[in-house]
Amino acid sequence: MDLTSGERRSAWGIGGKRPLSNPLASALEVDVAVIGGGVAGLSSALHLAEGGMSVALVERGRIGDGATGASAGVIAPQLVRTTPAKVLRRLGQDRGRRMLEFIGTSGTTIADLIARHAISCDARMNGFIAPQSGKSAGRNLEKLVQEWKVVRSDLRVLDAEQTRAVTGCAGYDAAIFDPTGGGVDPLLFAIGLQHAATAAGVQVHEDSPVTAVTPAGDGRWAVEANGCRIVARHVVMAANGGNADLVPELRGTVLPLTVCEVATEALPPEMASVLPGGESLTDLESDVFSVRRVAGDRLIVPLPATPDQSAATIAAAVNRRLKRMLIDYRPLEIENIWFGTAWVNVDFLPRVTKVAEGLIAVQACNGRGLAINSAIGREVSRLLGSSSGRPLLDLEPPRRVAGFFMAQHLPRLLMKAALIAKQLRPSKS
Ligand SMILES: Cc1cc2nc3c(=O)[nH]c(=O)nc-3n(C[C@H](O)[C@H](O)[C@H](O)COP(=O)(O)OP(=O)(O)OC[C@H]3O[C@@H](n4cnc5c(N)ncnc54)[C@H](O)[C@@H]3O)c2cc1C
Repeated sequence: MDLTSGERRSAWGIGGKRPLSNPLASALEVDVAVIGGGVAGLSSALHLAEGGMSVALVERGRIGDGATGASAGVIAPQLVRTTPAKVLRRLGQDRGRRMLEFIGTSGTTIADLIARHAISCDARMNGFIAPQSGKSAGRNLEKLVQEWKVVRSDLRVLDAEQTRAVTGCAGYDAAIFDPTGGGVDPLLFAIGLQHAATAAGVQVHEDSPVTAVTPAGDGRWAVEANGCRIVARHVVMAANGGNADLVPELRGTVLPLTVCEVATEALPPEMASVLPGGESLTDLESDVFSVRRVAGDRLIVPLPATPDQSAATIAAAVNRRLKRMLIDYRPLEIENIWFGTAWVNVDFLPRVTKVAEGLIAVQACNGRGLAINSAIGREVSRLLGSSSGRPLLDLEPPRRVAGFFMAQHLPRLLMKAALIAKQLRPSKS
């Protein structure tokens, strides 16, 4: 049987054969119902099925329709806006160390998944570069690399000259080089996970929006979609921001961040100095510049733009930013602009929440979810007893963000303010 129904294109235009949509059309009884067909849901379903559990996954639209398909595809197995020492202080030695191991190995975890299931997703695991500017950048980053040594010793610090040479960017004084990072085409990766999950026995149902999750009365849970019921011992909620619409306990627990991404035209030969080694870059500055090269030699660059801005305004803003950042800049046409919502936890750490016995939720991708939420699938499987091994993450209770009504606007406003502040400073050195 031909499992595929034509091509699906990722934001920057690579096609991938996608399986038939197969909407839920009858009642099911399984060990685990997974809600959401992004990397978190797909990886959880795959790992649970590989451990021997029967699994059904339901997705509102098509696989990868959420943050996964919108993602820039950067694989960055690093912390966001915190340090290993702070994580250890906050979570204690045992939990903190496991959290660092979880994040620090997420690059190799996604690379292993890609290799194990022969997923063709334009994987470019050539390394991840996190540069910083300022006189103390070298010292700061050396300290970070030292702190990471509790779980990994493969990170190194590049000086200003090396950073310039490997990034083609101006104005940075040092960088962390992480050899386990890089980039993937996220939609192709998700489609590959879907194929792997299906092969492992997962029943994947697209076009199946879940409308209710309720106790089934016998210690199990009932998941309703398309007027049909899936009864399961466990439910894994991996609907990202959509989790909160289904379970009141999860309302106000994560903050939305609208992210705009653009894909440029192919780089002209005069711009060959931009990331010549094919690494991905996300800097450690408050206005967060990120760039990577993808198929067709195009650049993917995020921008704090909003959907009401015109394509011409966004194209001009991206070019201004690239002109500021790149040593060999030429004006670039913008081929595609798209938006997505990344969800963040206030502490920027990944979280698996226990809502009730048998009901857990993967909470907040923190803009780094490709590798992290892929690795969360293995954790979910361990937490539900489908795989052996001590979980690296602990189940946590839902925690509403204090002052959520105001706080939900903060990530967007902070990004915008940081960008404006940077534009007012003198550029390139
Ligand atoms: C623009 C953008 C750029 C990003 N860039 C990067 C990057 O470069 N690197 C990186 O690591 N991370 C990046 N991220 C974050 C990353 O994409 C996410 O962390 C990750 O894809 C989240 O995966 P997920 O499976 O948790 O959620 P999602 O991919 O959002 O999946 C959730 C799924 O649940 C479905 N759903 C929702 N409600 C229901 C319902 N009621 N019933 C059934 N299904 C439902 C949705 O349709 C969706 O498909 C980016 C995010 C955005 C928005």
